[in-house]
Amino acid sequence: MTTSLLGTSFIGYSRSAGTEPCGNAVQPGTGSKLEPAYLTATPDEVDHAMALAAAAFPVYSNLSGKNRAVFLRAITTEIETVVDDIVERGMLETALPEPRLRGETARTTGQLRMFANLIEEGSWVDARIDRADPDRKPIPKVDLRSMLRPLGPVAVFCASNFPMAYSVAGGDSASALAAGCPVIVIAHASHPGVAEIVANAVIRAAKLTHMPEGVFSVLYGGGRKVGQAVVKHPVTQAVGFTGSRAGGTALMDSAASRKQPIPVYAEMSSVNPVVILAGALERGEEALAEAFFGSLTLGVGQFCTNPGLVFLANGNGEKFLTKLKTLIEAGTPGMMLNAAICQSFADSTAAFAATPGVETLARSTAEAGPGQGAPAVFIVSISDFLKNEALQSEMFGPATLIVRGSLEEIEAAIPHLEGQLTASLHATDAELAANSSLIHALQTRAGRLIFNGFPTGVEVCNSIVHGGPFPATSDGRSTSVGTMAIFRFCRAVAWQSFPDAALPAELQEANPLGIKRIMG
Ligand code: NAP
Repeated sequence: MTTSLLGTSFIGYSRSAGTEPCGNAVQPGTGSKLEPAYLTATPDEVDHAMALAAAAFPVYSNLSGKNRAVFLRAITTEIETVVDDIVERGMLETALPEPRLRGETARTTGQLRMFANLIEEGSWVDARIDRADPDRKPIPKVDLRSMLRPLGPVAVFCASNFPMAYSVAGGDSASALAAGCPVIVIAHASHPGVAEIVANAVIRAAKLTHMPEGVFSVLYGGGRKVGQAVVKHPVTQAVGFTGSRAGGTALMDSAASRKQPIPVYAEMSSVNPVVILAGALERGEEALAEAFFGSLTLGVGQFCTNPGLVFLANGNGEKFLTKLKTLIEAGTPGMMLNAAICQSFADSTAAFAATPGVETLARSTAEAGPGQGAPAVFIVSISDFLKNEALQSEMFGPATLIVRGSLEEIEAAIPHLEGQLTASLHATDAELAANSSLIHALQTRAGRLIFNGFPTGVEVCNSIVHGGPFPATSDGRSTSVGTMAIFRFCRAVAWQSFPDAALPAELQEANPLGIKRIMG
């Protein structure tokens, strides 16, 4: 490995001198500790990182979109020089296979480039112009112009299940930096070494492109200690988070109880319901079961979009269930991201299996080794499902619950579901047309509707929505994937009666940036 790991936080352009250990990375399965031991950022260092971010904000937020795009592109170049280090360390820390880590790194640099293109072009600021009309009766009209401006320093929590794409230089950081916000990252204990390699790359890029110190810091010491301190710090203006419902809601509480409450964009828990209608089964039950099994077990089920809940109408799908049972029983256990996630998967599947009315349809016949999760499928009637809210909870791993009832009962149950990232419908075109109220019900519960497909595999693009009503996310008006993610870290500001030269370039009369604007 070319990067040497020091185990210390990045406080702007300097490294932490903290001495309190917060632990080593641990290799999943073996439990072996990986060097170095990581050290917690001290309270003074957290304060210093925040002060640097506060000082960087006016400078960084006033750079042109083109300048910030240069920084984002430099990050991609620097990450690309250390891909092999990321993969080597990432495999040790997360047990994710090499192709996944290479793919995730490419997704990370792709996201950064996507935001670079967006801010370079510039129209994303949603500029609106209403010119003055001094002759308007009965009162003259003032000149009003508005656009989006960055909120200020943003705290970003790394995700355990995306060591690259939703961690140090992942989607939350990329969208906040693109918006013009300095970023303070809280590293995840599951992959501190990958965090350090990527942090080094971002800091190199910041220096090379002459960004103000404090535009980026990465802190070790965990979410409960250092992360909470950052969220409660008066300099912080927003939070990006991916993880558990308990962690996300704790951060929402902390943010709401500050003297100045701030928004938290937490992606937490989703079981991604899949509704299968008779016509879809007629096209081939076994093929559908195979495709479903592929989605369920992808990445050992450790995706926020894992299909953890299936609605199947009574009297339909016997071959689908038989095939799924065969696939699950033959399914191989896979290494999970860390011991806590593995334990939580074992606990949640045991709780489902022990719930009255729930039958274990199939489990992998292979015994799971240390750190591994094995596929499982449970089945329950819709009446028992509706009696027990716990059956809506996420089994984070390769397990799903099949709910059986009449089509009318399924439609009536949808409004009782918690908020979801996705909802999938398998049906024919005729069934789609005949079930508009079912589609409408699904739309009220989810951020992305999928027709004849499965929820895993999230396209990163302009129109993607990776969000949904609580608890899928803390704010269902937002997305954490795609270019719309930038709007989380901005607010609209209007300029009234300002002289043209004093306006931001985006709002000046001559439109020097040539961006799209709404003219009143
Ligand atoms: P987590 O326990 O929520 O931890 C994620 C981050 O949040 C860590 O940095 C953690 O710091 C911090 N955190 C947790 N509780 C906190 C609190 N009360 N105050 C401040 N910070 C807090 O999530 P995880 O480690 O990634 O995985 C645990 C479970 O979360 C999984 O088993 C799964 O059920 C769920 N999960 C869901 C998704 C999804 O996308 N739906 C993704 C990942 C995980 P500490 O190290 O200090 O705890």
